[in-house]
Amino acid sequence: MKLSLVVPCYNEEENVQRFYDEVNKTFNGLISNYEIVFVNDGSADKTGENLKKIYENDSSHVQVLTFSRNFGKEAAIYAGLSNAKGDLVCIIDADLQQHPCVVVEMLKVMSEDETIDCVAAYQENRKEGKAMSGAKSAFYKIINKLAEVDFVNGASDFRLMKRNMVDAVISLSERQRFSKGIFSWVGFNTKYIPYQVKEREFGETKWSVWKLFKYALDGIISFSTFPLKIATGVGIASSVFSVLYLIFVVIQKLCFGIDVPGYATIVVLVLFLGGMQLFCLGLLGEYISKIYIQSKNRPIYILKEHLKKDD
Ligand code: UDP
Ligand code: MG
Repeated sequence: MKLSLVVPCYNEEENVQRFYDEVNKTFNGLISNYEIVFVNDGSADKTGENLKKIYENDSSHVQVLTFSRNFGKEAAIYAGLSNAKGDLVCIIDADLQQHPCVVVEMLKVMSEDETIDCVAAYQENRKEGKAMSGAKSAFYKIINKLAEVDFVNGASDFRLMKRNMVDAVISLSERQRFSKGIFSWVGFNTKYIPYQVKEREFGETKWSVWKLFKYALDGIISFSTFPLKIATGVGIASSVFSVLYLIFVVIQKLCFGIDVPGYATIVVLVLFLGGMQLFCLGLLGEYISKIYIQSKNRPIYILKEHLKKDD
């Protein structure tokens, strides 16, 4: 059985050689039939040159796909999965935060039970502040309520999959990819194992708080249509409320002759309803932008170069 490692790389010049060495060291004597599919996601540093050197020294184990620009990690994963030849495929980061010895453990878990199609690793102890981990837990709570598929807190795309699952993931050719959701959506028997995430030694994380927020919103919109119903719910509730309030005001006037001092009420209601309308319009816009991008049917990535040994 051949194993493919799919490795998205964006500005990882200090890491790619170390990653390659670490894989060789870890696999030595344990796994011989493997390939490493590096995807250079439009890096602006020396990642491309370093990958080329690795390929020239070991073309029987290495493929390098180079994008024409940065298309994002999701596109890099898609390209890697589409070009991986293995019967088993594992997605792993280039920065060594996810150590290759976890891959060996995943293989062991998979070999112990042949009904397992996927072994996914989740971070046992998150190395981040309370606010961030609270925000992430809240995201998982919300998305699990709204979406039809399950999302496991702490699980990322670090996972080993059998060929049938890889083919299913590739068959979902949507432009705006949210892997966490796609992996759940395709189904299959997934086993979760804990792992310790390592500190990043070189280079920087590509995630900012704003990017994470956008990613979370994308996830919800890609896997749930519930937000579209918010407008309906708020609309019905405010109509019912306004009829009741109308009756109340009429009775006050007719029976008790009280003039309703309405300035504050009107201002609050106008602002509230205006805000809600804009919010719902914005949500609608998010869905429409997704339809727009999908309808242009552009490819998920553009390849500039593909280094691989002829089969
Ligand atoms: N990555 C990528 N394209 C991007 C951003 C990131 O291929 O646009 C790769 C990056 O090189 C790394 C992996 O995705 O191998 C994870 O990125 P990062 O370490 O920034 O994420 P974190 O570990 O902080 O979640
Ligand atoms: Mg990382």
